[in-house]
Amino acid sequence: MTIALIVHGGAGSWRPGSDADAIAGTTAAVDAGRKILQKGGSALDAACAAAVVLEDNPIFNAGTGAVLNYDGYVEFDACVMVAERAQIGSVSGLQRVKNPILVARQVMEETDHVMLTGEGALRFARVMGHGDHDPITPARFEDWKSKKATLDIGVGKDAKGSMKIREFLRKHPEYAGGTIGVVALDARGVLCAATSTGGVTLKLPGRVGDTPLSGAGTYANKFAASSATGTGEYVIRSLSCRAISEGVERGKSLDDSVTEMLAQMTRDFDADVGFIAIDANGNAVANHSTAHMPHAFFKDDSKIVARMFVEKA
Ligand code: ASP
Repeated sequence: MTIALIVHGGAGSWRPGSDADAIAGTTAAVDAGRKILQKGGSALDAACAAAVVLEDNPIFNAGTGAVLNYDGYVEFDACVMVAERAQIGSVSGLQRVKNPILVARQVMEETDHVMLTGEGALRFARVMGHGDHDPITPARFEDWKSKKATLDIGVGKDAKGSMKIREFLRKHPEYAGGTIGVVALDARGVLCAATSTGGVTLKLPGRVGDTPLSGAGTYANKFAASSATGTGEYVIRSLSCRAISEGVERGKSLDDSVTEMLAQMTRDFDADVGFIAIDANGNAVANHSTAHMPHAFFKDDSKIVARMFVEKA
């Protein structure tokens, strides 16, 4: 049976000078997941192991080092979905834990629910043994201060609450987030997708993105599984990850399904997004409409391939 795993480190404009860190970070994450799949482990275990490596790496916008919201604290969104029996666990607006993806997994495995949010998600995380963790790194804090100053100058301090973050981010793509995502196929033929993020930088407190919404930013069925990154509002409107699986179910190749979703989102919204996906045969696809989307993957005995962006034909 085929095994495969692909990860992304977020669509956007990667900061100059840190390509090597992004390549090393995504490669390390694939390696962690690959070890599990090679021993016959589950796609769920492999995806979560890879996601934890990315969450713990402060250069990515998830877990430690996630971006701050407008008020200066981190609210995590995370989701894991296993194709088998459509199992889903998800958290939104979760604060002060080290690994949101593991809390999402516990929502799936330890409760009757699909998603927990805010205070309730935090209470659940503590009950599950996730201690208090401050995810704010000095670099992200400095980043937030300077962005916030730029935004305030850009739209006026009085505009708080109604500001158009997306317009701001479009003008300053270097400020965009960098969600992490993983898709895995295990030797039993089970597909799993996992996505984790601090959301978009300077988001209004309480904003929920695409990441924790199955079918939008994260989805897995027996045909294909995928994880999205980029401005979540567009991904939610398009239910992108579900649509990618449906395309494959209707007979499209995975590559065509992802490419057509990107084309549709560019047409409809001029959206800044990216996807990773794997189909039931272990074909792995990455594509994005942004300048960069660091990603890495392997299939069966192949070496790990890591890239900053997908070359356009
Ligand atoms: N999709 C994420 C969100 O909107 C952000 C990102 O991928 O950069 O929350």
